[in-house]
Amino acid sequence: MTGTLYIVATPIGNLADASPRALEALRGADLVACEDTRTTRGLLAAHGIAAKTTALHAHNERAAGDKLLQALREGRNVALVSDAGTPAVSDPGALLVEAAHREGICVVPIPGANAAITAWSAAGFAADRFLYVGFLPAKPAKALAALEDALPLIFYEAPHRVAATVAALLARFGPERELVIARELTKKFEEIARMKLADAPAWLEAGPHRQQGEFVLVLGPGEAKEGAPALEPGKVLGILLESLPASEAAKLAARITGAPRNALYKEALARSASGAKEK
Ligand code: SAM
Repeated sequence: MTGTLYIVATPIGNLADASPRALEALRGADLVACEDTRTTRGLLAAHGIAAKTTALHAHNERAAGDKLLQALREGRNVALVSDAGTPAVSDPGALLVEAAHREGICVVPIPGANAAITAWSAAGFAADRFLYVGFLPAKPAKALAALEDALPLIFYEAPHRVAATVAALLARFGPERELVIARELTKKFEEIARMKLADAPAWLEAGPHRQQGEFVLVLGPGEAKEGAPALEPGKVLGILLESLPASEAAKLAARITGAPRNALYKEALARSASGAKEK
């Protein structure tokens, strides 16, 4: 019997957000794979859990993953956590999970905190869809240019870059878009502020702590750009009839516009007949 790989979400600041199921999985695991063993030991100690820990982080993900896979093959249960929130969300873990699936090892997620979803739930944008962008590259202009205008967007950002990122958002999306800055979520100095993008640089400058801590930026939806003008079936048919017989013109006009071929054919015959009479 192979072991089970538990993917365990941990708090993003407030230790009380560890779920009973998460604590049970950590308590029951033969091995807890952590991004930083010191950080996770703090969480384990706070809940009185004595578990064996091992490091799996961005720099050793493959080698550490291979060892964990071997443990799973031998029947040991492994709990995977990251420093905060949900593993494999802007955090390591996906490679191990992929390998586990490949080997038919049972993968059990234990859901819990995630900074993006926490910020979205407190942002108040009544939209059915959003795009989780995560961290932008150091030079973000190209990545921002490629993003759709209408979709709400969720970004992660580090304190030393948050002002530059807000400036880049302002340049790309303009002053009228709504922005929610969610800072230090679930922690003592949590701040969630909603404003126009135009006002965001001043908000960040307004206090000595405003650019400290951890940030999620939630950009509200924009106006959908007008799509290409709809193709009028009658107009398309008329153009095609100038050089094609009625049946061929109707077939192509139906393919181009999506209008029913039969109706277009009837119209094409009628137009051809009236054209013949006029001659
Ligand atoms: N796996 C995590 C999750 O599920 O949200 C994300 C890890 S990612 C390396 C760390 C980033 O998440 C931070 O730079 C920040 O953008 C965001 N983040 C994490 N905790 C946060 C918090 N308490 N408040 C605001 N943002 C937070």
